Amino acid sequence: MIGTEVQQNVHLLEAVWKSRKMNTCEGNNILDSSRQFLYHLGMKTEPKTLQEAIRYFADADNCLNYIIARRWPKGVECPTCGSKEVSFVPSRRVWQCKTRHPKCQFSVKVGSIFEDSAIPLDKWLTAMWMLANCKNGVSSYEIARDLGITQKSAWFMLQRIRLALQGNKPTVKMGGSGEIEVDETFIGGKARNMHKSRRMRRLAATGVGGKAPVLGMLQRDGKVITMVVPNIGKKAIQQEIRNHVAAGSAIYTDALLSYYGLNTDYLHRVIDHAEKYVEGRVHTNGMENFWSLLKRGLNGTYVSVEPFHLFRYLDEQTFRFKNRATKDNPMNDADRFSLAVSQIVGKRLTYTEVTGKDNQAQF
Ligand SMILES: [Zn+2]
Repeated sequence: MIGTEVQQNVHLLEAVWKSRKMNTCEGNNILDSSRQFLYHLGMKTEPKTLQEAIRYFADADNCLNYIIARRWPKGVECPTCGSKEVSFVPSRRVWQCKTRHPKCQFSVKVGSIFEDSAIPLDKWLTAMWMLANCKNGVSSYEIARDLGITQKSAWFMLQRIRLALQGNKPTVKMGGSGEIEVDETFIGGKARNMHKSRRMRRLAATGVGGKAPVLGMLQRDGKVITMVVPNIGKKAIQQEIRNHVAAGSAIYTDALLSYYGLNTDYLHRVIDHAEKYVEGRVHTNGMENFWSLLKRGLNGTYVSVEPFHLFRYLDEQTFRFKNRATKDNPMNDADRFSLAVSQIVGKRLTYTEVTGKDNQAQF
């Protein structure tokens, strides 16, 4: 019976990658080979492309082994008591902790973004692969269609994956010897086209123009931090800069007055965009590039994002940006996906938390 399920999954998920125009450059004859052969090929090596990922994760053991290797690199541990005295129950794909306590049976989903989800791991992992790697993001409508789940389920899944992409708070400040670009932008708007109640809600949440102010700081070796700020006044902006950038660092900004006064703690240089965009090393082009990628996703893929959820989309874009392939950091799709999977633990997001509504039972 399990074999039939796997076959069905293979069919479903093959349809997914055929329907997408991603990863079309494998350049081998993978399509011409027999399924059986591919299946075993997938079992042996971890996937490098979306196409391979779909095939690989159609096998429930592959899902499990892939996650175990990242979640418990030193061996499976009970998420409740931390004991390594656990035994696997293959028929149910759960572990039994030898210590007696509530929840002494646990699955790989417990204590992760997957907890309490009825959606099988192959769909979760496919959605994660897509979100971690699609430059402009991927919408809940696409995920729903591709994976055969409801749009609401897909939306909730994506919000939980964004939580995994968020990563851990940095323990050291940016800067030091690295140069920092700081820039602000506004996200959202087009309030005129919105339904009145939605427009009022948005205005209440964001203030003038229905746009949310966002601040970004980028270190030129690739680190980037972005956040929704209450406004772009001097106090709000400089507080965040001082929280995240080490004193004495070189900071480049545009001529916004809110940045004036930073030179008491920083080597602050201004590029006045009314005159020019670059003067030697003084520019904010890295941050501008980040904003344009973010806005391409927000305007094209996501269409409308409530200000309340905006920070999750910032986290998503920040993850892809930080882990993009560069000369010094040659990351590929498989690396980004692996990193995302390694960040699923200790993060839970209930439907109530993410929406403020209490109808989690649907999922
Ligand atoms: Zn235990």
